Amino acid sequence: MRAKHPLLLLSALLLALGLIAAAWLAGTHRARAELMEQGQRQLQLMAPELQSLLQKFETLPFVLGFQPDLIDALAHPADAKTIARLNSTLRTIQQQAKVGAIYLMDRDGLTLGASNWDQPLGFVGKNFSYRPYFDAALHGRAGRFYGIGTSSSEAGYFIAQPVYRDGSAGGPVAGVVAVKISLDEFERTWRSSNDPIVLADHHGIIFLSNRRDWVYRSLHPLAEATARELAHTQQYMGQTIEPLAGHSEHYVTQPVGQLGWRIMLFPGQSRVLRAGLQWALSAALLLACAAVSAWALHQRRRRLEEAQASRAALQRAALELDDKITERTQQLRLTNQHLENQYASLQETEHLLRSTQNELVQAGKLAMLGQMATGIAHELNQPLAAIRAFADNARLFLERGQADKAAGNLGHIGEASARMGAIIGQLKGFARKDGSIATVDLAAAIQSSAFLLASEFRRCEVALHIDAEDGAVLVTGDRVRIEQVLINLLRNALDAVETAERRSVIIALARDGADALVSIRDSGPGIPEQVAAHLFEPFFTTKPSGKGLGLGLAISSSIVQAMNGQLTAHNEADGGARFELRLPLPAEGA
Ligand code: ADP
Repeated sequence: MRAKHPLLLLSALLLALGLIAAAWLAGTHRARAELMEQGQRQLQLMAPELQSLLQKFETLPFVLGFQPDLIDALAHPADAKTIARLNSTLRTIQQQAKVGAIYLMDRDGLTLGASNWDQPLGFVGKNFSYRPYFDAALHGRAGRFYGIGTSSSEAGYFIAQPVYRDGSAGGPVAGVVAVKISLDEFERTWRSSNDPIVLADHHGIIFLSNRRDWVYRSLHPLAEATARELAHTQQYMGQTIEPLAGHSEHYVTQPVGQLGWRIMLFPGQSRVLRAGLQWALSAALLLACAAVSAWALHQRRRRLEEAQASRAALQRAALELDDKITERTQQLRLTNQHLENQYASLQETEHLLRSTQNELVQAGKLAMLGQMATGIAHELNQPLAAIRAFADNARLFLERGQADKAAGNLGHIGEASARMGAIIGQLKGFARKDGSIATVDLAAAIQSSAFLLASEFRRCEVALHIDAEDGAVLVTGDRVRIEQVLINLLRNALDAVETAERRSVIIALARDGADALVSIRDSGPGIPEQVAAHLFEPFFTTKPSGKGLGLGLAISSSIVQAMNGQLTAHNEADGGARFELRLPLPAEGA
C-alpha cells in the first residue's frame, strides 16, 4: 500500500503537519489570551494601589502651604533661627508622613529649608526653578512630576503647592513647598513577578520596572521636541533614553495617575510557547494514536482476509485430498487384488515346487539305486553263489550219508541268506518314499551307508576308514534321508579317488559345539575352482553321462537345509576334498 500510494501518504503527512501547526497556533493563542486576561486582572489590582499611594500625599503639600513656620521663613529668609525652626518642622513632618523629602523654595526656586538640610546631599541652597512642578505651583496650581533628583540622584514623585504670603489661598504666592515620594516601595512588590512589569510616562519612557535594564528606555523612539524638553527639565538627569529592544508586542496596559502614566505587564512568552508546544504535542499524539488505530484496523482486516483465504485454501486442499484418497484407495484395491492373484499363483507354484522337490528326492534315490545296482547285484550274487555251492555240497554229503557235514553246510546257507536279507532290508528302507522323524544314531547311519557301498569300495580297492563311536552322537531327523546324503557323499568320494594313486576315504563323526559334525575326506584331486562355484547346482556334473546326473549334491544340500543343517565343501591342504555335514544337536534336556 505504501508503494502504491505515495501521493496519498504525502498528503496525509501534510495534513497531519497542518493539524499540528493549527494546534500550535490555537494553543499559543489561547494561552496568550488567558495570560492577557490574567495580566489585565493583575493590573486592575495594581493601578488603584499606585493611584491611592499617589493620592495619599496629594493633600500634604497643600496643607503645608498654610504652616506658619513656612510663611515665616519666606518672610525672613536671612534669619537663621527661623530657618532652623523650618528645617526642624519639615524633618518632623517628613518622618511622620513617611515621605522621601519635604522642602521649601522661594519665588526664584532657591531652596530655603529642607527636611534633609543636614545631609550631604541635602536640598538647601539648590535651585529647582527649571522643574515643571515649581513653575506650576508658582502659578497657583498643583505641580506634579516624576524624575531623578538632581542632588540625591534618587528617582521620586514630586508634588508641589504654592505658599501664600499672608497665609490665605488666592493671595500673592511667596514660595513653593514640595514633597518627594519614593516609589521604590511600590516597585519592590513587583519583584516576585516573573513577567516584566513597567511604569511608563506619557512619552512612553519606562521609569520604574522589575527589570533593571528596562528602566530609562522608551517603548518607541523619542521625537526631537521630547528630547529637548527632557534635557531642559532634567527629568531623568540627562540619561540618554534608548528605545527598548526585544520586548514582546503582547502586553496589557492600564492608565494610572494624573500624569498620563501607564502601568504595563508583559506576560512571559515561555508559558505561551509551552502551551503551544503542549497543544502541538497533544495533536501529534492524537494523530499518532489515530494512525496506529487505523493501522491496527487495517492489519486486523488483512488478517481476517488472510484467515478467510487460508480457510478457503484448506477447504480446497481437503476436497483435493478426499479425491486423492478415493483415487488411491481405488488403486490400492486394484493392487491388492493383483497381489492376491499373485499370492494365489505363488502358492500354486510353491505347491508344484514342493511336489517336484519330493519327486526329485525320490528320483535321486532311484538314480543312486541304479548306480548301486551293480554293487548290490555283486553283493547278492556272492551269498547266492555260496548258498548254491553249500546246497550242492549238502546234497552230496546227504547222498554219502554224512549228515553232520550236510547240517554244517545248511547252517552256512542260513548265514548267507540272513546276510542277503539284511542287504535287501537296507535297500527297502532306502527306497521308501517318506521316512519318519525319530532319534537317529549318526554312527549307525554311517555304518549302514558304508555297508551299502562296501562291495563298491572293495571292487575299486579303496580303503574306507570309519571313525565313529556307536550311540555317541544322536540327532533328530529322518534316518533314510540322512543315509541318502551320506551315501551320496561317500559315492562322490569313491568316484574322486578311483583314478588316484593313493585311494582312501575317511569318514569321521564328532561333536562340534551345538552341532553334530560328519566329515568325509578323500585322497582325490580335490574340487577345481570353476567346479566349486556350481557344486550345489542341480544337474551340474563333470562325470560322463550315464555315470553322473548332477543331482546328488543339490538334493543332499536341500535335505540338510530342511533339517536346519549345513553342507559345505573345502579342499584339503595336502590335496583331496573334504565335505562337512553339520546337523544341530537336540537342545539339552529336550
Ligand atoms: P554327480 O556325482 O552326478 O556328478 P553331484 O552333484 O554329486 O553329481 O556332484 C557334482 C560334481 O561335483 C561332480 O560331477 C564332481 O565334479 C564334483 N565332486 C563331487 N564330489 C567331489 C569330490 N569328493 N572330489 C572332487 N569333486 C567332487
